[in-house]
Amino acid sequence: MGKKRILSGMRPTGKLHLGHYTGALENWVARQNELDAQGNRAYETWFLIADYHSLTTSLDTADTFSYTIEMVIDWLAAGINPEKSPVFRQSQVKQHAELFLLFSMLITSSRLERNPTLKDQVRELNMESISFGHLGYPVLQAADILLYKGNVVPVGEDQLPHLEITRELARRFNNHFPHPATGGVFEEPEPRITKFSRLAGLDGKAKMSKSLGNTVLLSDTPEEVAKKVGRAVTDTQKIRKNDPGRPEVCTVFSYHTRFSPDDRVHSIAEECRSGALGCVACKKMCAEAISAELSPILEKREAYASRPEMVREVLFDGEDRARKTAEETMCEVREAMRLG
Ligand code: ATP
Ligand code: MG
Repeated sequence: MGKKRILSGMRPTGKLHLGHYTGALENWVARQNELDAQGNRAYETWFLIADYHSLTTSLDTADTFSYTIEMVIDWLAAGINPEKSPVFRQSQVKQHAELFLLFSMLITSSRLERNPTLKDQVRELNMESISFGHLGYPVLQAADILLYKGNVVPVGEDQLPHLEITRELARRFNNHFPHPATGGVFEEPEPRITKFSRLAGLDGKAKMSKSLGNTVLLSDTPEEVAKKVGRAVTDTQKIRKNDPGRPEVCTVFSYHTRFSPDDRVHSIAEECRSGALGCVACKKMCAEAISAELSPILEKREAYASRPEMVREVLFDGEDRARKTAEETMCEVREAMRLG
């Protein structure tokens, strides 16, 4: 058995926010750098820019390239090392489109209509109807993962139903089209969820999301973070400073559990409950804790932002490596299907 492979991705639809960081990116960096007992890398890591997937919610492509560059800068600043981890655009590796088409024959539309992540999105964005391609989002995602034979997929909680569809497609493909030499072309991948796999939004909604406008960005300065956290929704029953609060329902407290040290989290909870700690002071501490973690990222971000040509090189190199691996998998797929 070779090294386990990690494949994960994000859509280039704007600057990254803390949810992307706690739900996916920090986990990507940790897995990229993880060593096994022999001191070798525990995983091979591949990171995809899902530009085709961006088309599911907007056909406006004017900013897709600049969003892509911004996103890669965020990834690099957070610690993705492009020599260890190829970084590449889905649209530049045509095998994604080919495998998507083949997989789309192996799943029913009613199965895709039952996808709870899609239902949430349609509700949140007040969409009246969706495109055929949007319904097929998880099918393209299955192609993304399985082209690289990804077996571990670090994602936020909203992606779990999609991973289930990838697993079904891998199984169904192997059953219908056993490979003459290897038996099954694909392995079923496992999701890998972080502790903060669903970071709440500043407005108290369950998910921080750019489309809901309730985000703290990885590129926000300490002043911007303080302003945004200062306006965050807390326990609505805690009206005056000395009213006792309920940390378990408070968004700001949920950020403390991620960004403040454990002993501080404990005392904040106690003092909130007793009424000793008011929301203004609590939010100030929270903003400082977030900015302390973001500050090295912000610094590196500036260094990469001043070298856009280097960021482009990272993409071109990643895309060359991705095409090679994707084509190897497609050769097996075509053999198994007796196509060509
Ligand atoms: P947005 O909702 O802000 O538009 P998105 O969900 O469309 O973002 P994707 O590119 O689909 O962005 O997601 C990238 C990764 O970030 C996925 O693994 C997703 O689960 C994770 N993620 C996005 N938002 C959050 C969040 N609020 N908490 C935890 N993980 C998140
Ligand atoms: Mg999403």
